[in-house]
Amino acid sequence: MSKVALITGITGQDGSYLAELLLKKKYIVHGLVKPNFLKINNNKNWRIQNIIKKINFHKSSLEDYKKISKLIKKIKPNEIYHLAAQAYDGHSFDNALYTFKTNLTATQCILSAAKTENKKIKFFFAGSSEMYGDGKKVPINEKTPFDPRSAYAITKVASYYLIKNYRNNYKMHASTGILFNHESPRRDLRFVTRKISSSVAKIKSGLQKKIKLGNLKAKRDWGHASDFVKAMWLIMQKKKPGDYVIGTGQLNSVEDFTKNAFKHVGLNYKKYLVIDKKLRRKQDLGNRIADNKKARRDLKWKPSINFKDLVKNMVDEDLKLIKKWNLVNT
Ligand code: NDP
Repeated sequence: MSKVALITGITGQDGSYLAELLLKKKYIVHGLVKPNFLKINNNKNWRIQNIIKKINFHKSSLEDYKKISKLIKKIKPNEIYHLAAQAYDGHSFDNALYTFKTNLTATQCILSAAKTENKKIKFFFAGSSEMYGDGKKVPINEKTPFDPRSAYAITKVASYYLIKNYRNNYKMHASTGILFNHESPRRDLRFVTRKISSSVAKIKSGLQKKIKLGNLKAKRDWGHASDFVKAMWLIMQKKKPGDYVIGTGQLNSVEDFTKNAFKHVGLNYKKYLVIDKKLRRKQDLGNRIADNKKARRDLKWKPSINFKDLVKNMVDEDLKLIKKWNLVNT
């Protein structure tokens, strides 16, 4: 019999890759979407366009306990992947109330509904490397102390403890993947990697002249989102629940990303780069690097796409987008 999965955040970067993965594995996939979600004529669905007919959508606020309980009772999921979040860390203190509601109240609501309906439902939560703050102690593993420095990071740490308590108190299979940065052609344009890949594609196509960046020296442990959703699935297949640091273990700078992206299309980044100090983050908590030994050992997980191929994939897909857009508009 097919397994049943419920995914929150299915329209996002990770949700879309995860839905594809689970459909390939013959799961019946349900997506919990915002109350104002539209299945057709909705630009927000671009990431799931290829699989949209195969997904069962359910509209609900993430904090509507009654509706979510009813849904869980009806669809009987074996696995719940809770990925929905206000995921833009940089803005989270400007929007703290909304961040707390979306990222923390929602986790409590869905976890509690799952527990009440059926304690055997497996639950995955998307944690974040932001939980470690400035990452002075590198590399970071599952035992590294948390030091959250944003409303976003605080909600992720609080949710982590919530999940740990449900695991210990109710013996639920509830786990957190502590995810380091992961990118893809489906990354939101607000994130620097996608800003770079899309600008490079536009510059190569003659649609843009320069790219403005803030801190070239900022470093991140960047992986490909398609690898990260495999880790989520592997965590759910383990007999015992647990928490796992998921990251590549490789640090690269914004400058490395920019250089590689331009090089891929035969251009020298220095000719197109403008440094804009206003774009620097007030506090850049970078340099965090993942120690992924536990995931490698227990999940047999390792990233399959390296940094250079990630950059190439993002630039290539942005070039294809421009080509498609030009065809549509000629
Ligand atoms: P995206 O921003 O691409 O997707 C976020 C998803 O959450 C979207 O489907 C969005 O729906 C949904 N969502 C946001 N707010 C609400 C809300 N109020 N009600 C219902 N749904 C909502 O994020 P990613 O896919 O990149 O990230 C997935 C998860 O992984 C997040 O929890 C994120 O915090 C975490 N994570 C991601 C990292 C990364 O590098 N990508 C790193 C560490 C953690 P809609 O499209 O309708 O707005």
